[in-house]
Amino acid sequence: MSENIEKVECLIIGSGPAGYTAAIYAARADMKPVLYEGMQPGGQLTITTDVENYPGYPDGIMGPEMMENFKKQAVRLGTDVRFGMVTKVDFSKGAPHTVWVDDKHQIEAESVIISTGASAKWLGIESETRLNGSGVSACAVCDGFFYRGMDVAIVGAGDTAAEEASYLSKICNKVYMIVRRDEMRASKAMQHRVMNTPNIEILFNSETDEVLGDMEVEGVRIVNNQTQEKSELAVKGFFVAIGHTPNTAIFKDFIDMDDQGYIITKPDTAKTNVEGVFACGDAQDKIYRQAVTAAGTGCMAALDAERYLSAKGHS
Ligand code: NDP
Repeated sequence: MSENIEKVECLIIGSGPAGYTAAIYAARADMKPVLYEGMQPGGQLTITTDVENYPGYPDGIMGPEMMENFKKQAVRLGTDVRFGMVTKVDFSKGAPHTVWVDDKHQIEAESVIISTGASAKWLGIESETRLNGSGVSACAVCDGFFYRGMDVAIVGAGDTAAEEASYLSKICNKVYMIVRRDEMRASKAMQHRVMNTPNIEILFNSETDEVLGDMEVEGVRIVNNQTQEKSELAVKGFFVAIGHTPNTAIFKDFIDMDDQGYIITKPDTAKTNVEGVFACGDAQDKIYRQAVTAAGTGCMAALDAERYLSAKGHS
């Protein structure tokens, strides 16, 4: 099993706005960054449509195109971007830290920047799992197309659910929003948008009892949590938009995290509890979770890593 162990000065794990911004700064600082893209190259923005709130794009930009631009900029400045998934780490013995890619390729990294982002949460009911990919989806932008002209339902009441409902309303005949409380968490602007879209119907105080169908989604049974009354919606698509979980499980034996798995960074820095390991983006941010804040913390992580390496005489 022994193969050459690669030595890397700055290893970046993850390819969203945080990872690529860290790469841009690290490359310009001559840290020869190697970036592993992970399972979803480009991160969550690759499953978004219009991004209207990233400064510098007065007419907005499509998420995938923006991430392609991030990547091009990082590569042009000298980042070694690789397709692969970091599957295991050992941060127990101090720098250089050991990292395994795809369970085999071993790297000794003088500094590590974690920018692994977050993934969609699921309701956790049996029918949702069974029909995943057969009408159940956590990405309206990826899968909405399949339900053109049909009726669909979406669970959730945050900005993601509202944004996706709005997107689906343009493709589908009718969109039911299943909201568990009597109000929505989404911003006022997004609430206003969905409430004023004629083919979106918001079902408050409603929870999903079961997704109906054997081989594919044929409907959803919901229950009103005030009256316990059950009813069925005849929908072909069932979208789940109830938030995210940070992709940090592989670090949990070494890195301090909160009870939800978000990495804890030292105040005003991107430093973790382990020397030479830095974290940025959604893996450590449960409050803002924006592309622009992720990019900002990516910059912080690279600057902190650069100072750390210089202090150790590396750069
Ligand atoms: P949020 O955590 O903000 O919202 C999750 C929603 O899902 C809540 O309404 C929650 O209900 C509901 N929910 C959670 N668990 C369940 C469950 N088991 N059953 C039913 N409903 C459930 O996540 P989002 O992904 O919407 O947003 C994350 C962050 O990203 C937010 O800060 C948001 O503002 C931001 N964002 C910004 C956008 C933009 O600016 N363009 C676009 C998208 C997201 P409850 O309210 O009852 O807790």
